[in-house]
Amino acid sequence: MRNLSLANGFNSSNRQTEKPLIDIGNVGITPSLDTVQQVDINEREFRRASQSKSERWTLRTPTKRDIVARLERVSAKDGLRLKQCCSTFRVLTCGEHTLRSYPTFRCKKLFCPDCAAERANRLSRQTEAKITEAMQTNKGRLCLLTLTMKNAATLDGGLSNLKKSFAQFKRKKVFKERIKGYFGGFEYTFNPKTNDFHIHLHLIVLRGKFWNQSDISDAWRDVTGDSFIVDIREIKDAHKGVKEVCKYVVKSNDMMKMPDDKFLEVVKMKKGTRMFISGGCFYNVKLDDDADETDENVFSQFADLTEGDACPFCKEELFDVFVDRRQHIGLHELNAMPGIVKSNSS
Ligand SMILES: [Zn+2]
Ligand SMILES: [Zn+2]
Repeated sequence: MRNLSLANGFNSSNRQTEKPLIDIGNVGITPSLDTVQQVDINEREFRRASQSKSERWTLRTPTKRDIVARLERVSAKDGLRLKQCCSTFRVLTCGEHTLRSYPTFRCKKLFCPDCAAERANRLSRQTEAKITEAMQTNKGRLCLLTLTMKNAATLDGGLSNLKKSFAQFKRKKVFKERIKGYFGGFEYTFNPKTNDFHIHLHLIVLRGKFWNQSDISDAWRDVTGDSFIVDIREIKDAHKGVKEVCKYVVKSNDMMKMPDDKFLEVVKMKKGTRMFISGGCFYNVKLDDDADETDENVFSQFADLTEGDACPFCKEELFDVFVDRRQHIGLHELNAMPGIVKSNSS
């Protein structure tokens, strides 16, 4: 309730056009009634004030080419790795049907857009069944819970602080009473004006008993000492919601805004840095980053086929070809759906 009157007085004129603190887009996640107006206004105002419109535009998600170009300047070796990642694909085909395709090399870096996309797809594919299963035996509402921390000077330090705080948070009685399961990951943004990281934890939770935002905020402040900005909203469409969260919990943001030292910090982040957590009835929702390469198959139902086998559609012999990135995008457009191949009308 603390922020409610402030929010009403402060912001009523432009609430319509305003973006929520956590921009989740139109993905079937509807703010629950208790939370909409209670997002911390100072933070929101601060963000808006610190970014002009043109700035926001130039701070679009960097393309892989942008990142490679910068990385090549600060670390030639890492630049080359990133450039090589997903530059060549091995495709199993009969000449007409594409049965399987995967990159010959993946860098598996957290900041690589290709690897992040793959990780997000794999995560949502691997988790959906487990979520559905857990929800059959545990009643509750699926919600998106976001916990944030005061800005941190280093990514490493900020992450470990947030992890420590969450470890305490989940042991709280009030958490155990209300949250039956959770999974999700860390996301960060970088503020070039203050030269520091803003790190959040996005969790999909199965909420039993209702828990309103201001109580969550109080409990979160209890463990962090100074951070209290939280958000909880119900997820109407579990499928879309899960997919969207999977997208966010794995991406690296704002790389191009960083000065060289911070940029390198992100680049050099340890491969094993844990960015994904789960627990409660979702304890088995996991992101296996050492997954087999065959897991990346575009059409995984054909994972067993190899060169020399017969194409299941036309019986022609299958063979491997290597294609570059541009040719590979063309392949995806032809056979966009798993199991759906080119129609014979052509
Ligand atoms: Zn990569
Ligand atoms: Zn065929």
